[in-house]
Amino acid sequence: MSRSDPVHNRILSLGEEEAALLSYPEETLVGIIRDVGFACDGCGRCCTASYNGHVFLLDRDLPYLQNNHPETLIPAPDFEYADQHGTLYVSGYALRVQEGGRCVFLTRENRCRIYENRFSICRIYPYMLHREPDDEGIVDWRQIAGVGDHGEYHLPIDEGEAATIAEEVKNYELAFIRHQIGFWEAIARSFDEQNLRHVRKIYDQALRRFRKGEPVKVMVYTGGSFEEHIVGIEEYRGFSSP
Ligand code: SF4
Repeated sequence: MSRSDPVHNRILSLGEEEAALLSYPEETLVGIIRDVGFACDGCGRCCTASYNGHVFLLDRDLPYLQNNHPETLIPAPDFEYADQHGTLYVSGYALRVQEGGRCVFLTRENRCRIYENRFSICRIYPYMLHREPDDEGIVDWRQIAGVGDHGEYHLPIDEGEAATIAEEVKNYELAFIRHQIGFWEAIARSFDEQNLRHVRKIYDQALRRFRKGEPVKVMVYTGGSFEEHIVGIEEYRGFSSP
């Protein structure tokens, strides 16, 4: 892997994100959480693909699903890479959606059917702590998702509760970044060992075949290695991608 390799650069930039996150002052996040004073009003929007895309699952979220609802797991919809044979690669699993892009666990009354066992991202939402561009492309730290679009605001949150939320958010974002670093490191290792290479044209062709209804092979990163799946577009009904 050379220094100009895109995978190497991706790992480097994720490492920078990790360092920035580690040095982000937790008291700033606590202040923002208290200032926004968010409370869920049960509108259910955050649990739909049209509003939030897919629910990405960390490895720690998987045992509950594998033991209780294995049929709800799919390779995450944003296939990220391909080798020269047209096999696609993605960094983890996601939850299926039901009709209308609603999470498979969202009831008609907009309640979570498995609330006590909900997943890492569901537990911290709408809080977040990462840098991303806004509508004008300005990259900065974002701490609350969809402010003004859902829920209620300016409700009192005491210091202790805000500190607990801030700690959970930071832990989640660190776990997510480290998972992504693990994925790209595994890509680098396995491409090197198996003499594979990423060819943009073949990646585009594989996605086109998939969108036309042809099943494709997808390698899903989990637990430090890859699991193989053959998937078809019908499993992704309700998502806007892939
Ligand atoms: S698991 Fe529950 S909280 Fe998470 S997206 Fe689905 S319905 Fe919402």
